[in-house]
Amino acid sequence: MADKVRLRIAPSPTGDPHVGTAYMALFNKAFAHHRGGQFILRVEDTDQTRYNETSVREIIDSLAWLGLLPDEGPGIGGDYGPYVQTERRDLYLKNANELVERGHAYKCFCTKERLDALRTEQAARKEPPRYDGHCRYLSAEEIASNLAEGKTYTIRLKVPEEGQTTFNDLIRGDITFDNKELHDPILLKSDGLPVYHLAVVVDDHYMEISHVVRAEEWISSTPLHVMLYNFFGWDVPYFAHMPLLRNSDHSKISKRKNNTSIKWYREQGYLPEAMINFLALMGWSMPDGSELFGYADVEREFTFERVTTGGPVFDLVKLTNINGKYIRSLPDDELFARLLPYLPADMDKTRAREVLPVLKDRLTRLGEFTELTGFFFGPVPGYPATLLVPKKGTPESTQAALEQTKVLLENLPRPWTHETWESGMRALADQLGVKAGD
Ligand code: GLU
Ligand code: ZN
Repeated sequence: MADKVRLRIAPSPTGDPHVGTAYMALFNKAFAHHRGGQFILRVEDTDQTRYNETSVREIIDSLAWLGLLPDEGPGIGGDYGPYVQTERRDLYLKNANELVERGHAYKCFCTKERLDALRTEQAARKEPPRYDGHCRYLSAEEIASNLAEGKTYTIRLKVPEEGQTTFNDLIRGDITFDNKELHDPILLKSDGLPVYHLAVVVDDHYMEISHVVRAEEWISSTPLHVMLYNFFGWDVPYFAHMPLLRNSDHSKISKRKNNTSIKWYREQGYLPEAMINFLALMGWSMPDGSELFGYADVEREFTFERVTTGGPVFDLVKLTNINGKYIRSLPDDELFARLLPYLPADMDKTRAREVLPVLKDRLTRLGEFTELTGFFFGPVPGYPATLLVPKKGTPESTQAALEQTKVLLENLPRPWTHETWESGMRALADQLGVKAGD
């Protein structure tokens, strides 16, 4: 194993950039950079029906917004490209054929009809669906005649019937699976495109990925990957499976129960540093237990030993809380600069800047500002004037007091501050002989 440290994320470009991608990007980048290595973005787009071009750009935009830009990737560059799987088809094909030549994989000519019938029979016998190995034992003549007839085929892995496959997970220790659970999976589809398992192993090998750090849902695929590395005669990378982010009912995080799009959080006015802080607390913690920290701290302190495997719940209330803390920690001018993109084009920006300090303590998302401050900009809403009359006052004394207050406030230096208001108003109340509360 080369001692270069290279980690990657491999999202599928199938819609809005997902918080799970940001989560994996955070730890992959932090670990890679902690060790002086590279962080790579590879796009897994072999599932053509789900491909969506703009989402590649959106993934990169979202990573940039979070400060998690990769060192290598599509549109970024690097020596290990192309970084998009559909541009690497020849490599998968060549390697799949090599496995066939070396007797570790075989051509399967089974039709969809045959496979459907097989599945129906297995279901009737209450057996789990599995390939029955029909083409594993075809003779050379049978294969030749199938090819001569122009039959299409897939390539399947010839999984050893006996034995077990073990791999070490940096978070979870040794994990062992029985080979017979694997059932000769398809590696290359009849259209010549690889399935995920083949593509991921080929790419991780050629891109010299040293550590495969991904979500725990891929644990059960890893023995198959290890088997492929061994059949190819390639070094096996380190593996670490991070906990899956979860909905509050502990199911895998989903669009239906959570906002999973990074774009949504950005639009709502969550700050990228709050997102990073929040995501870092999902299944990991700082050695000193601190709750507020940034990317640089994760990069400095990250170790797999501190990852916990209980499924962390993606709690929007907690994130909103953290976001409020980051908002309050920013100097007013910087906060205002961050706020500007969230303000309506026709809003009076000078006025907005004046109002900001009043709102800062209560603002939990930048997108909330307009809604919370409407009354500073529009006409004062209608109200019964008698509401202003204090218990011991009269309409006349109240009106007189308000008029003097107006004069006082108009003459206070701008921007108004808590201190100048407080001393001015208290002095006026004394002078008028009314209580400060009134
Ligand atoms: N395309 C897979 C995903 O979307 C990649 C899994 C892996 O990192 O191997 O999660
Ligand atoms: Zn077959």
